[in-house]
Amino acid sequence: MAKKHQKLKNPEACRACAACCRQFPFYDHNADGFVDRIKLLKTDRIIVEESDFVTNEGRRLYRIVLDIPCSALEFKNGKYSCKLYGTKKRPRMCSEYPYEITDWERKHCKGLNSAKPHK
Ligand code: SF4
Ligand code: SF4
Repeated sequence: MAKKHQKLKNPEACRACAACCRQFPFYDHNADGFVDRIKLLKTDRIIVEESDFVTNEGRRLYRIVLDIPCSALEFKNGKYSCKLYGTKKRPRMCSEYPYEITDWERKHCKGLNSAKPHK
């Protein structure tokens, strides 16, 4: 399911954006109270919200946003870049992001908002 959105991204927009590198959004349902447990963390750098995404099984996903920048993110001459880009150390989930387009991506992802959908 991950790769279906790849061609919607726009590399130039990513270099000006880095929203998904400055914050780390991911999605999960509340199996075993996982989301409830995250909510108990005593920090304002983790945001837990209901997303607008419902799985095929009818389960609404929560969005968990870690408001902590990635240590591999660089910002030079007004552009963002990834120190790990093109290496095996770059997490696969970075190259496959976004997995699903939810309200967070629609709001923050400049690449999705500037590129035309592919056929
Ligand atoms: S949020 Fe979207 S546009 Fe911004 S860096 Fe991530 S993939 Fe690129
Ligand atoms: S590893 Fe690179 S692409 Fe992935 S979050 Fe960090 S800076 Fe962004």
